This record gives sequence, structure tokens and C-alpha cells, in this order.
Amino acid sequence: MRVFITIACSLLITTAGAQVKLQKSTGAVNKSVAAKYGETITPAAVKKQLYIVAGPEMEGRETATRGQERAAAYIISQFKEAGLEPGANGNWEQHYPLYSDSLVSSTITAGDKTFQFGEDFITDLRSGHQEDIRASKIIFADYGVVAGNRNDYDNLNVSGQIVLIREGAASGASRDKGSIADKIKTAKAKEVKALLVVTPFASRYKSLDQDKLRKTGVYMQKDTTEHLNVYYITPAVAAGLLGAGNGDSLLSAIDNGWKVPVISNTAVHIVFNKAGTTLQPSNVLGYLEGTDKKEEVVFVTAHYDHLGKIKDEIYYGADDDGSGTSAVLEIAAAFARAKKAGNGPRRSMVFMTVSGEEKGLLGSTYYTTHPVYPLTNTVVDLNIDMIGRIDPAHEKDTNYVYIIGDNKLSSELRPINEKANATHTGFKLDYKYNDPNDPEGFYYRSDHYMFAQHNIPIIFYFNGTHADYHQPTDTVEKINYDLLAKRARLVFYTAWDIANRERKPVVDRHEK
Ligand SMILES: [Zn+2]
Repeated sequence: MRVFITIACSLLITTAGAQVKLQKSTGAVNKSVAAKYGETITPAAVKKQLYIVAGPEMEGRETATRGQERAAAYIISQFKEAGLEPGANGNWEQHYPLYSDSLVSSTITAGDKTFQFGEDFITDLRSGHQEDIRASKIIFADYGVVAGNRNDYDNLNVSGQIVLIREGAASGASRDKGSIADKIKTAKAKEVKALLVVTPFASRYKSLDQDKLRKTGVYMQKDTTEHLNVYYITPAVAAGLLGAGNGDSLLSAIDNGWKVPVISNTAVHIVFNKAGTTLQPSNVLGYLEGTDKKEEVVFVTAHYDHLGKIKDEIYYGADDDGSGTSAVLEIAAAFARAKKAGNGPRRSMVFMTVSGEEKGLLGSTYYTTHPVYPLTNTVVDLNIDMIGRIDPAHEKDTNYVYIIGDNKLSSELRPINEKANATHTGFKLDYKYNDPNDPEGFYYRSDHYMFAQHNIPIIFYFNGTHADYHQPTDTVEKINYDLLAKRARLVFYTAWDIANRERKPVVDRHEK
């Protein structure tokens, strides 16, 4: 159904009469003026940008690394050269804090035995807090469940004590009674000082990537709630703490009715010591002031971060999202040329390349919660994420681009984008991934989504995924530069229309 509509539109460009008719009917697109600048977005220009943005110097542009900083510096140099102004309150960059923690040391000592982090137990670095505690006893609270008729804490005074529980649910109890989140909540409410959870899976910790266990990824929100450190221990550690046999036999002995001493008088010493780092990655913002409607702003965005280096191998991210970054640079330059020639947009333009996308839309989350321009004056976000390649579904007919999210908040965006396409680019616009039931859920997977969360209409331009998606083989020589430039032009023409039309697109729909 939707494909039929787009074919009808693209047929219009085959006759000059139809083009004229389109312009007259709306008055918003003046092909000759817009095209004068749109056509400066050439395959050669985007190629030149992308060979630098996704080149080896940038080391894969991982957020909060040297590669990302180099990419930011390059983007700034291009915005400056184009004649934009710094877009973040007089600065080119909007820095935002991210955190990362690494383990310094952690041990559990019971009697004369010392157990090691990563081998005998682990704990979650991010939620764990500094701890150096000693106790003369351990309290065993079976599964640590309080629900219905079951109370594993019955008659136990655990306030300020170290408590050991088993993972999972008691036989006969429903599975949801055994969730670790519930058990932690219960233990917190009872003012338990530290929680030890014995699990046979802990015996596998040795084989895990020790570097990953000892260092968190970057994260945005510092958890300010009261912490309870949870240590996941092997049966051998549990046996040592309970003073009961060896690890292998302990759990089956309990299951077979062996009465665990509820209170074990073993001297215990737990140490958990981590170091935190605060990092300052950035979003890069270039600004082009509008004329009579300059208070209203049109955003064109792409993420400039990618996956960086993994085990010394560079993940270049040429398509993801070097292609979008290069497109933003050339679209910005085209608008700046128009302005220099006296054809500047009525609304102001903000060209923003964000970081943190691959870590979970962190840069766009930060921007939309710390906006430089009032969100109520932000008219649209046109987001470009991967537009330089052809996905397997379009190998035969490559003249396409996926359009996602264009009708979620405004009924006026799709007609604007389709008109720009019919007038200038003639793509087959593919709305497949706009289906809310599509299992890929791409609408939720790039930065425009954070703008949509604030009721700002968006369009997401996308080429679909391919075999090199998130692989070190997503490299510059595999990009189709004709397509990349033409898709960038579609974004340019749509932005041009929105920036120059009399009324901004109405927000009249609320699709999630
Ligand atoms: Zn990606």
C-alpha cells in the first residue's frame, strides 16, 4: 500500500509539467533556488568527508576515547570552514558526563581461607559500593524469600548482618518468587549489610573475560539509591563460610534435608574496593541563524561515534554512522552557501552530531534533557543513521531509502518529505520499518527517538542493515557514494522546505 503511493510520486518527476504543478500547489519548494544549493552535495564531497571521518586516524570513534575527540575536532573544523557559528551557548561542543568503574580489589576471607573475585565470586561493579566489613557470623536464610506463606527470614534477626541465601525458588514455589531483584529488595528492607548468593553458575566465573568483569562500560546515571552489595559465590565458598563439608556436596546435602546451621560462627572479612572515572564526551553543534522565524529551529542530526577498537581491531563505522556524519557536514555547508548568497533559511538550523549513540543513545538523551534551544521551539529532527549502503532486500533496485517515524507525531511531515523526493530525488521511499509491529524496532534505535520522546516530529533516514553492520569490515570503499549523496540531498530538500515554510509542521498525532 505504501509502496504504491511512493511509486505514484516518483512518476511525477518524469514530466516537467507535473513538477511545476507541484511547486504551484504548495509554494513551499522553489526548485531552482533549493536545487542550486542541494546540488552542491556531491558524491565527491561526501566521499572526501567520509574518508577522513571513518579513516584509521579516528580509531573507530568510540565515545570518550581519543578517536571520538579527534572526530569532534574534525567536525568542528568543517563547521567553521562552512561558516556556521558555535551552536552550544558559544561553544562548538556540549560536553556531558559519563562514568566508568574499575575493580581495585575484592576478597572474601572466611577463617584462614581467602576467596578471590573473578574466580570464587563476582559482584556487579556498577552498583557495588566500597566495603570493608568484618563479622563473627554468617546467617543462612535459605532462599531469602518472603512471599505468601513462606518466610525464609522467620525468627532471624538480620539487621546489620551478613546473610547467605541460595539462588532460585524453593521447590513448589512459583518461579517469580525466586527473582534476585525481589530477594535484594527483601534483604534491603531487613537492613542486611551484605548479601551472599550461592549459585552453581559461579563455578564458571573463571572462564569469563576477566577484563570485562573488572571494568564497567560507560554509563550515564549514577545510582544514588542505598546500595546493598550482592556477592555471587560458588558452592565451595558457601561451604567454607558455613563450615560445612565441601562445595560439591553442600547444595545437594541441603536439598536432601541436611540441616544448615542457621548461624555459622565463622569469622568473615569482605573487601570490595573500586575506582571511578568521570569522562567528558561531547555532542558537536553548528548553528546557522534564520531570518524572520529564527526563534524556531530545525535539527539535522547524525551520530559520529562508533564502536572504536576491539582487541586492537578498528571498527571503522563507515556506514554506521560515518555516512550520516558526512551527510550532515555537506548539508550544513549547502545551507551556509545559501545563506552567504542571500538565500538563508527563515528558521534557524542546528546541525548536531552526537556521541554515545552506540552506548545507548546517551548523547541525544543528554541533549534532550539539557537542551540548548527550547524544545518547544524545536520544529523537527531529521536524523540520518546509515545511508551509504544497500541492504539485501534492495540489491536489484537500489534507488531507495527507508523512511521511519515520519508520521508518528505530525501528519504533515510525510507529505513534505514525499514532495521533496518527488521534486528532486525520485527515490522509492520504503516504509517497511515504520510498521510498529516490525520486529527490528528501528524506530527506537537511533537518536531521533529521544527527540520524539519530547513530542518533536522526526524523520529517520536509513539504508537497512547488511553483513558489515557492526563489523570491522564496515569500511569506506564499500560505500555507494552516489546513493549517499542523493540520500543526503533528500534530507537537505526536506529540511529546506521545513525551514522556509510559513507554518511549522503541526503536532497532531501521538503514535508511540
Ligand atoms: Zn550502530
